Amino acid sequence: MTPTYDRSHYPRALSDACSGFGALKPPNRVSVSEGAQANLKIAQTGSAGSNWDPKETPYMVHPVDALASRQHEAVVFVGPARTGKTAGLLLGWMSHAVVNDPGDMLFIQMSKDKAREFSKTDVGRALRNSPKLKAMRSGRRDDSNTFDEMFRHGMWLRIAWPTVGNVSGSTYRYVAITDIDRMENAENVDGEGPLFDLAKKRTTTFLSRGMCLVESSPGKPLEDPSWKAATPHEAPPTGGICNLYNRSDRHRWYWQCPDCFDHFEAAPGLGLFHLPSEAELLEDVRTVDIPAMAAHYARIICPHCGSVLQPKVKSHLNAGGIWLPDNVRINRDREITGTPMSSTIRGYWLGGVAATYQPWKSLVEQYLYGLRDYALTGSEEKLKTTTNTDQGLPYMSRHLAETKAGQNRPADRAEDGMVRYQAPAETRMLQAAVDVQGGVNSRFVVQIHAVGVHQEQWLVDRFEIKLSKRPGMGQEFAPIDPASYPEDWDVLTEKLLGATWKTPDPNREIKLRMLTVDTGGEDGVTHNAYAWYRRVRKAGQAHRVTLYKGASEPKAPIIRETMVGGRKGTKGDVPLLVCNPNLLSDMVSTGLKRGTPGPGYYHFPKAKHPTLNPDGWLPQAFYDELDAEVRAKNGTWQQVRKRNESFDLCRMMMAGLLRLQVDKVKDWNVVPAWLAPLDKNSEIVAREDRQAAQANVVIAEAPQDVRVVQPRPRRPRRHAYAQL
Ligand SMILES: [Zn+2]
Repeated sequence: MTPTYDRSHYPRALSDACSGFGALKPPNRVSVSEGAQANLKIAQTGSAGSNWDPKETPYMVHPVDALASRQHEAVVFVGPARTGKTAGLLLGWMSHAVVNDPGDMLFIQMSKDKAREFSKTDVGRALRNSPKLKAMRSGRRDDSNTFDEMFRHGMWLRIAWPTVGNVSGSTYRYVAITDIDRMENAENVDGEGPLFDLAKKRTTTFLSRGMCLVESSPGKPLEDPSWKAATPHEAPPTGGICNLYNRSDRHRWYWQCPDCFDHFEAAPGLGLFHLPSEAELLEDVRTVDIPAMAAHYARIICPHCGSVLQPKVKSHLNAGGIWLPDNVRINRDREITGTPMSSTIRGYWLGGVAATYQPWKSLVEQYLYGLRDYALTGSEEKLKTTTNTDQGLPYMSRHLAETKAGQNRPADRAEDGMVRYQAPAETRMLQAAVDVQGGVNSRFVVQIHAVGVHQEQWLVDRFEIKLSKRPGMGQEFAPIDPASYPEDWDVLTEKLLGATWKTPDPNREIKLRMLTVDTGGEDGVTHNAYAWYRRVRKAGQAHRVTLYKGASEPKAPIIRETMVGGRKGTKGDVPLLVCNPNLLSDMVSTGLKRGTPGPGYYHFPKAKHPTLNPDGWLPQAFYDELDAEVRAKNGTWQQVRKRNESFDLCRMMMAGLLRLQVDKVKDWNVVPAWLAPLDKNSEIVAREDRQAAQANVVIAEAPQDVRVVQPRPRRPRRHAYAQL
């Protein structure tokens, strides 16, 4: 039988043989958005379609062009749905790369199913409907499957999902990650690290020619109700895409008002709509005609001139819009001032109000439906979804938002004229708490409160003890080390139990009635704390000291005293107060929320500020720490900031008061002498007596001269048995 030859493969073989050279050609000198416009045809099923048009989504041009930037290693785009980001950033980039600047490309979708869907719909249609892309397909059946596409010049396009196998190993010139905040393992892919870092590594071989894109609407919850942006464009620290954006130069999209010509941000969220307060909306939302209400509010208000801008101007606003990096301003004549934030990551955050394919009415409507759902069922799912994917904003649970709304913030009612080291006239007792911080930056953090009638409290001092009495380098004492050096604890005896604080009467000073000390922490702290307590007891001061430990069981009683420090199986000799931190936090929080002085109220001084309060003595960090914990729905308190000392110390002092049963006092005219008014209080020391007592104490001085350490002569090494 004579074989027949299909000659059609000859020209293809020729083109294949030459295809490798495509990658050697210099890239065609057009921008990515020009490349996308020339080569990407968008067609819905059953329509002829048209080329991708940058004029439809003007805010996409800058981010799309940044994908070819050689000064940046990555582009981060935070934005809601219906912005046209898939067409611009993913398909547009792909089209430009295939035709003008080929290089292997990896798309990472949320899951295998999403990858398949993206391949069959978006990518598949783009390749079929765009003549230039179609012509570049290799045409060999082996070269094309659901997750791979090979082009004639050798460029490989792969569509994958986040597994270690997919994101490590191979190198790609271009990597694009979609919807990163919806990927459960984005922070750690199979134990290999964050997806973004893994993806970026794939492109490093290509140096400045490589590029990694990440895009997503925000999906991580906002858990810190008191968070405030430190710069105009900072995103909240939610993790996920917002954290990547914060690593970038942080562009936001600005519109120019057609009436006053000033610029304002098309900010994520619904702020520009000036809706009634959420409390009001929650009242009405069950009865109101939502579509009608949404139509009524489907307009924005210029924050500069108050002009009402109707939906029909949105495309005009976008056409004249401009991306600005963090820390710059723009005036009416479009002159830009300020020093822009710089980074090797280009970052953009677009609000839903600018999204071309999301009408303003629908944006408001979705929010109102979300509120109605919440009002009827208590479910926040719809509200969360519309906040994230329509408005382009991280979501904060209603519970936390209400905490914030109802909160009377201590910083806002801080007082003038509170003198450091001085207890006020209302004082009935003075107390302190000590937090023990171990590690490299070991220290005792000390806070001192005066306590008045009904546990009203005044901050008298707050400081850190960082140095021990042991000699250190040069003229300095050695850093304190509560875990390793038992004697370092005696600093507390001297500086706190042995000290007095001023009162309004210059001749009368007051001692601490209670010192509550944390015993948790690193190895050694607990043991040394017990040993210190025994020394304090020997000195007859034990009634002034409480050793504190937070209980781990959520149902633990608010305080419970137990004896510890004994050998195994025997009863200990050191009383330890085991406390339920959640219940103590509730008590402290009640006092912190009080708007006016009275039972449980906390008086704090105004924080130091370079211009507003240069003579202040309390750092702003004190207030940041007070906001460090929030109460979850189940009643447990969760730490949302790294440093929480001022809140923690308030909690410990509350435990100290409970131990003294100050909360049980019914009649403040009938109290023990240590709780009496200052003129009758047993803890008062006359100034002369204190001075006389101090004169008799010899305090170890630090060496005055620089110590020269002589190397010791080496002794011959001996084996242990040689010493026997
Ligand atoms: Zn205006």
